[in-house]
Amino acid sequence: MHKFNIVIFSGAGLSAESGIPTFRDSGGLWEQHRIEDVASPEGWKRDPLLVLNFYGMRFQKQKECQPNPAHLAIARLSERHSVVNITQNIDTLLERAGCTDVWHLHGRIDLQKCEEHHSLAFPSSYDSFTCDHRSRIDRPIALGDLCPKCGGQLRPDIVWFGEPVDMREAELERLVRNADVFIGVGTSAQVYPAAGMLSIFRNTPERYFVDPHPNYDVLQGFHVKQGSASVELPKIVAALLSE
Ligand code: NAD
Repeated sequence: MHKFNIVIFSGAGLSAESGIPTFRDSGGLWEQHRIEDVASPEGWKRDPLLVLNFYGMRFQKQKECQPNPAHLAIARLSERHSVVNITQNIDTLLERAGCTDVWHLHGRIDLQKCEEHHSLAFPSSYDSFTCDHRSRIDRPIALGDLCPKCGGQLRPDIVWFGEPVDMREAELERLVRNADVFIGVGTSAQVYPAAGMLSIFRNTPERYFVDPHPNYDVLQGFHVKQGSASVELPKIVAALLSE
C-alpha cells in the first residue's frame, strides 16, 4: 500500500469538542478575558499574576480533557501514513491521542520558559525540550518561580500576540514539496502568519477542510466538509485508509 505524506493543520476547533473552548466563538474573549490582557507582552508586564493564573487554569483544565474522535482519527492515520501535525493549539491532546509529530506554532501549555529568553526557538524534538531556559511544568507557574539558569521569572511557553511565531522555513519547504494530502481543521484562518498555511499548501494534490463555519474566501480547490471535527475528520481518515 502506498504511504502518503499528510500534513494536518489544526486550530482551536479541533479541541472544542474535548471541552476546550475556542476564543473566537466566545465573542473574542478567551474564558472571559480580553485577549490583550492574557496573551500579549504588554498584558504580562501590566499584571503577571493575572496571566499566570489564567494559564494555570488552562493547564489544569486541559489535563482533565480527553482527546476527541478527531484527535484519535489523526492518530490512527499516523499508524499507516506519514502524518505531520502543524497546530495552532497549545493543548497536548494530539500527543495524548498518540501522535508523535506535532509542531506547535503557538507554543505548549505544559512548558515554561524564562521571561528573559522568551523568543527562544521552539525545540524540534519535544524529547529534548528541557534546555537551559525551558522546562516542562508539573504544576501551574507561580510568581517567584525563577529560571535556574539566569534567575528570570518563568512564564508560559506560549507565543503571544506581537511575538514571533516559530515558522521553521526549511522544514516547511520540505513538507510543502512532499505533501500528497493536506487537511485543515477547526481554524478561522484569520491569525497570521499561521493562517497563511492554507495558501502555502495550495499545490498539494488533495486538500480537505473541516469547520462548521468554513471561510470559503480562502478555500478555493479544497474539499470542504462543513461540520464538526469529531464527525467529519474520522470520515476523511476512513476514506484515506481505504485508498
Ligand atoms: P480560530 O481562529 O482557529 O477559530 C476557531 C475555529 O474553530 C472557527 O473557525 C470555528 O468555526 C471552528 N470550530 C468551532 N467548533 C468546531 C468544531 N467542533 N469542529 C471543528 N471546528 C470548529 O481559533 P481561535 O479560537 O480564534 O484561537 C486562536 C488562537 O488562540 C489559537 O490559534 C491558539 O493559539 C489559541 N487557542 C488555543 C486553544 C487550544 O489550544 N485548544 C483554544 C483556544 C484558543
